[in-house]
Amino acid sequence: AHLERIRAVDDRVKAFTLVTDDLALKQAEEADKRLASGENLSPLTGIPLAIKDVICTKGITTTCGSRMLENFKPPFDATVMEKLNATGAVMLGKTNMDEFAMGSSTEHSAFFPTHNPWDLDRAPGGSSGGSAAVVAAGMAMGSYGSDTGGSIRQPGALCNILGLKPTYGRVSRYGLVAFASSLDQIGPFARDAQDAATLLQAVAGHDQRDSTSSTQEVANYSQALTGNIKGMRIGVPKEYWVEGMDPGVEKVVHSAIEALRDLGAEIVDVSLPHTKYGLAAYYIVAPAEASANLARYDGVKYGYSYRDTDDMWEAMEKTRQNGFGAEVKRRIMLGTYALSAGYYDAYYKQAEKVRALIKRDFDEAFAQVDALVSPASPTVAFKLGEISDPYQMYLQDMFTIPANLAGICGISIPGGFSENLPVGVQLLGNTFQEAAILRIADAFE
Ligand code: GLN
Repeated sequence: AHLERIRAVDDRVKAFTLVTDDLALKQAEEADKRLASGENLSPLTGIPLAIKDVICTKGITTTCGSRMLENFKPPFDATVMEKLNATGAVMLGKTNMDEFAMGSSTEHSAFFPTHNPWDLDRAPGGSSGGSAAVVAAGMAMGSYGSDTGGSIRQPGALCNILGLKPTYGRVSRYGLVAFASSLDQIGPFARDAQDAATLLQAVAGHDQRDSTSSTQEVANYSQALTGNIKGMRIGVPKEYWVEGMDPGVEKVVHSAIEALRDLGAEIVDVSLPHTKYGLAAYYIVAPAEASANLARYDGVKYGYSYRDTDDMWEAMEKTRQNGFGAEVKRRIMLGTYALSAGYYDAYYKQAEKVRALIKRDFDEAFAQVDALVSPASPTVAFKLGEISDPYQMYLQDMFTIPANLAGICGISIPGGFSENLPVGVQLLGNTFQEAAILRIADAFE
């Protein structure tokens, strides 16, 4: 049924970079056998899912939305894929994204833009726009994306589904093509909190192959969904209401806060004073790490290779010139500059200090509250092509970026509509408090 749905609508939504029909049918058959035998069952056995094209799938093209990796077939599975395969889940295919996960609209895929299923003239958000769109359009029951500065939560918000960014270290990054290693996390997209809990459960946990993955015990997320949030303390950070924000978004988020109060939560005003520096710090730290991570695309090891020369330097230069798109090049240049001798102290080191202050703000807030509530994005879905200035695009993530800098978890949940377009509400939880934000999301539904 899902493959039929994909055939019916994906030529308009354009969410998949690859549909793995044959594999899906084979896996579905295996899942049927497993279900019939009643052995080895997982809640995901037979469930059709889609995977962002930044997560390595053995023998299956993993493009990262880039010409550079257009024909790249990884020789191994990401840990997340290994875990999903073990559950007997069915993989429908790989989803479109902004090149190397840099962007907020999925227009910066090297192949084609993805359209928002709620209004095909609009962007689904990004960079995991394909993974959000497949769930919103009923092409998959759930999906996975990656979030470095908002790439799960913002497209989740713009497509009216749930998008969860786990705590840094909760899900293994082994096999996730690196953008900014100290910020990247894999997480699920789902239609409700129960599904999000199940999808997170399947992939969370320590992995020896990712030295930053946590050994902390994984909570039982589904069990946390009691439907009851009476007495929970939820903070409203005053810095998350800024000028220039869409009034329709503001209205929906305020009524969501009232709904949480009606459910018995105690709503508390809090302050995160360094929020305003988050975006600037992120656009030093993320490009710096990206410039180092993307140095590996030299045309020698894997991916696209310019061969029309005998000169080694020319080969590397032309490989990178032809293989990377404009936004990726901009990040590499920004990052290289920020890390270069003489500028390191002025930019990178300064940004790391700001990052520590942002973390401290959250520590102080979470000493008083169980979770925070805010808008997920300052706007509703914008028209494709509407935002051409890169800086304007960066502003899309002003409410999501601080969580990545601090390593805490966050989820965006459908909050309501403004002029027929979905508005997302963001819930932030302290490190490893995914159960708390899922519980609130579930009670809110
Ligand atoms: N939009 C942000 C960026 O372009 C965040 C992307 C992400 O979370 N991968 O860097």
